[in-house]
Amino acid sequence: MPADATSAGLPTHLKALLQEDNPFHRVLLEMMDGILICDDQGRIVFFNHSIQEHFQLSSADLHRPVVEVIHSESFQVSLQEVLTTGEVVSEELTVLCGAIEKTFQFHGVPLDLSQGNEQILSGCVAVFHDITAIKRTEKMRRDFVANVSHELRTPLSAIKGYAETLLEGALQEPEVSRDFVDVIHKHAIRLSSLVEDLLDLSKLEATDFQPELKPISLKPIIARAMGLVETSVSSKNLLLFTHLPEDLPRVWANVSNLEQVFTNLLDNAVKYTPVNGKVAVSAFDVTEGPHQGFVQINVVDTGIGIEAKHVPRLFERFYRVDKARSRDLGGTGLGLSIVKHIIQYHGGEIWVESTPNKGSTFSFTLRKAEES
Ligand code: ATP
Ligand code: MG
Repeated sequence: MPADATSAGLPTHLKALLQEDNPFHRVLLEMMDGILICDDQGRIVFFNHSIQEHFQLSSADLHRPVVEVIHSESFQVSLQEVLTTGEVVSEELTVLCGAIEKTFQFHGVPLDLSQGNEQILSGCVAVFHDITAIKRTEKMRRDFVANVSHELRTPLSAIKGYAETLLEGALQEPEVSRDFVDVIHKHAIRLSSLVEDLLDLSKLEATDFQPELKPISLKPIIARAMGLVETSVSSKNLLLFTHLPEDLPRVWANVSNLEQVFTNLLDNAVKYTPVNGKVAVSAFDVTEGPHQGFVQINVVDTGIGIEAKHVPRLFERFYRVDKARSRDLGGTGLGLSIVKHIIQYHGGEIWVESTPNKGSTFSFTLRKAEES
């Protein structure tokens, strides 16, 4: 925005401050925080680039009442308070900026510029510090702790309940006590897999996490992961097969992390595919388009599929389409978020295409380690 557009109609002293050759002018304009000055009638006399971006203002908005361009009742109240009491007001504001809700730490400072007895400008300097990202992170952390506690509570209370029943006498009844110990064992396994997953996630998220990537062949890794789901595959009579070209290039990867990716995706494919279905792993060298230089891997199943509305949230921690069903199958909803983290730090991408009742294809890319 040209400087004279922002400073038009300002008192000479402020105009001098806002001249382009005045170093303070650039500082004000370029500050990360939004700065807006209005007069004692609440009319805008200056705003910087940050305010312009947040509230989509143009020079035509100069001299307009600020409450017409910043739509927030609490802002109106705070501004009125600064203008009438002459006191500093600080508070958190949530404002609709276009279609997005943003949260700001707002400071309203009274402005009283005078020279001798002459008052030049009275009004308010409004500073908007954008804390939207901080608030989002705080909420994610709160949700995460609530989710973890919730997930821990179910198996813990089952273990406690069954152990108490045993201690209160069921131990003497061999026909039921074995079942109770079985349940305790099942829930203990669930607890330990939850804790393992959480530890994996926190390792992957650590800022100093730098796994060693080496050129590796995909075939043996896929074969090992397939071996791990063999029992469920045969008990559900699924057809499990691969389609891997002989000359598939090697990829840059960390072996144990990549094994975890295949294990999680195959575990899901098998878990969410009804009896007599098919699960396949295929891979190919991408020779054109945005993924050129990568190998694309697809894990395809003919399972229950996923409705489109769930897809955007599928890779979030603890997100499950059908909570009860997933829990019955021993799931915690952390598998896909671990997979996504691993693929991301490998420099690849992961996505899913799915049709309810037909099946799903989870695809991801890994950088080629050599020219084929
Ligand atoms: P776990 O932490 O044990 O992996 P989970 O399998 O429930 O538990 P994710 O692997 O993160 O969790 O998957 C999240 C959700 O995505 C699942 O609960 C399920 O609803 C859905 N989902 C994942 N893979 C498939 C698939 N192949 N077919 C249908 N739904 C799937
Ligand atoms: Mg899973």
